[in-house]
Amino acid sequence: MNPKHFETLAIRTQDKRTGNREHSVPLYLTSSFTFDTAEQMRAVFADEEQAYIYSRFSNPNTNEFVEKMCLLEGAEAGYATASGMAAVFASFMALLKSGDHILSSASIFGSTHTVITKFLPKWGITYSYADMNKPETWEKLIQKNTKMIFVETPSNPGVDIIDLNWLGKLANKHKLILNVDNCFATPYLQQPIKYGAHLITHSATKYIDGQGRVLGGIVVGKKELINEIYTFCRSTGPSLSPFNAWMLSKSLETLAVRMDRHSENAMKLAQYLETNKSVINVKYPFLKSHPQYKIAKKQMKQGGGIITFELKKGFEKGKLFLNALKMASLTANLGDTRTIATHPASTTHSKLSEQERLSVGITPSLIRISVGLENIEDIISDIEQALKS
Ligand SMILES: *Cc1c(COP(=O)(O)O)cnc(C)c1O
Repeated sequence: MNPKHFETLAIRTQDKRTGNREHSVPLYLTSSFTFDTAEQMRAVFADEEQAYIYSRFSNPNTNEFVEKMCLLEGAEAGYATASGMAAVFASFMALLKSGDHILSSASIFGSTHTVITKFLPKWGITYSYADMNKPETWEKLIQKNTKMIFVETPSNPGVDIIDLNWLGKLANKHKLILNVDNCFATPYLQQPIKYGAHLITHSATKYIDGQGRVLGGIVVGKKELINEIYTFCRSTGPSLSPFNAWMLSKSLETLAVRMDRHSENAMKLAQYLETNKSVINVKYPFLKSHPQYKIAKKQMKQGGGIITFELKKGFEKGKLFLNALKMASLTANLGDTRTIATHPASTTHSKLSEQERLSVGITPSLIRISVGLENIEDIISDIEQALKS
């Protein structure tokens, strides 16, 4: 049998069984691996023979997680990191050098924004931010030294969408590396490589774990780019722990069913919020009112689990809303089984200036909901009672 379907690949891709014939994959908590002879050790170090050497390079658990993610994203190769930020940072550091320029959008995760605006310039790498809602402006921002385009779609926290097919063509026309953070969609809802992306980064901490337990990240994509990232990571050490890889690989087995339910619940909550009079600007990729609804429908299987909205009465009243929630958790994570409410302006995006926040739609009253897997009626009642109070 040669399985082709997402669910089957996510469940039946497994490292070789040991002599114990275990059903679930064993956990290899070992920092290094042994050799029979000095000659074999020399051959492995010289890349003449393939074998595990040291868990900073690879390990059966990280390897299995990487292999599965490559199959699910349609990628040639990958490397797993200790967190999503380690994946994003490694993809920049391994492939950009002093004098290069990166084109992105300010509508990205707060820490990625900090890396691009505060750290890359220290090493002589410049950046421009284009507007996710004005694709016609992107090409003008490409310079002679532009090397990479980095985007999130849907973006965090604004759930902005960009046309991946158009962006893939733009990147290829200018011979740029297209690097897509696919964290909100996961490969189950969207596979950017189909549209010409060269690299995919993930915070596996979010939907891939999906249960708020472990940190993790991964980069997958073109083999020659991943080789550079591997060389960088092998020497600098942001590797994923075998334990976290084991958790994440197991979690992938349920990704499809979880994403189906996250999306179904989020769609119902978004439709409810649009009818609630205390709320304005409900934004969800699969609502007809989303500015890029048609593109979202084209490139995503479903809308995902993240909704944003604003409170009509501003953030002072918004605090009352957050404090009145009885079930939804106030926490900075997302993509959990548990519904989560976050206020991006004072938390995940607090390091941006007020002007930077406003330019990407993070108003003081913006609320982000990561819709969980609880019964949708309980989720809606909790939000409804909090909005009333
Ligand atoms: C959370 C997040 C990250 C960072 O991931 P960590 O695992 O927390 O380091 C990167 N990109 C997006 C879109 C995220 O939501």
